[in-house]
Amino acid sequence: MASTLTTVRTVNDLRAHVAAWRKAGESVALVPTMGALHDGHLSLLALAKSKADRVVVSIFVNPTQFGPREDYGDYPRDEQGDLAKLGKAGADLVFAPETAEMYPEGFKTLIKIGDLTEGLCGAARPNHFDGVATVVAKLLMQCAPDFAVFGEKDYQQLLVVKQLVRDLNISVEIVGAPIVREKDGLALSSRNVYLSPEQRKIAPLLHQTISDVATDLAKGRGCDDAVVAARFKLDAAGFRVDYVAVRDPDTLTPLVGPVKRARVLAAAYLGKTRLIDNVPVPPPATNR
Ligand code: AMP
Repeated sequence: MASTLTTVRTVNDLRAHVAAWRKAGESVALVPTMGALHDGHLSLLALAKSKADRVVVSIFVNPTQFGPREDYGDYPRDEQGDLAKLGKAGADLVFAPETAEMYPEGFKTLIKIGDLTEGLCGAARPNHFDGVATVVAKLLMQCAPDFAVFGEKDYQQLLVVKQLVRDLNISVEIVGAPIVREKDGLALSSRNVYLSPEQRKIAPLLHQTISDVATDLAKGRGCDDAVVAARFKLDAAGFRVDYVAVRDPDTLTPLVGPVKRARVLAAAYLGKTRLIDNVPVPPPATNR
């Protein structure tokens, strides 16, 4: 069957499509992405399709969430490839605005979320979550969907978006989607293409290590002890560790001692590539 996927580049065109669906009584879900799509993104689309009659996927590499020395210019971009994947996977509409459409001359507003954005990835990337919150707020107001789907891969981001929607009374249900992984456990990421073959071999150790932390914590080991062991293992394998942390899964408050319910989160560099990952405590196998 021929794909009926349409791409729009302006907020007016996006709103016109959504208005037509609304008139027909259809519900709408939004999946925000920065493109270079992989199966993780497509799993978000599948979840969105199960929730709503129509799904909009946005593709926008958002400059305000990148630091001055980060990879905004080099971030992988493949619009034709993305559109082919989205057509096949059954998206209804792609919103792929130019930067000037999202941030026209004179744009000034920046949303700050406070302490939720200060630790973990926010510590290494000082204005990152202000940029994320701002662009997500814009996308939610431009599209006005019933649901918006975000991956647990970016766990802190998911909580930031939930906080944003709560604080600003944005009428949308934020849906979290599980992390899609390679067979060896590496979380799919658009940035994995940066890894050399040697780094790619080491990369799954990040997931393995934080999974071991989760298992140890479930057996009663203290947080500090488990985190020190994990950092040691990652350092020895050639990672440059940014953080390994055990946090409250709802508030990201730091936890100490033995814990019952938590999230283990980590960020570590292999060469110039920053990998992030997270797992729940108790781990899924011991969840019941
Ligand atoms: P990005 O294009 O990297 O901004 O990601 C767009 C959305 O896809 C975000 O909500 C991410 O959390 C989500 N995502 C990225 N990688 C994965 C993955 N491996 N599994 C599930 N969701 C993912």
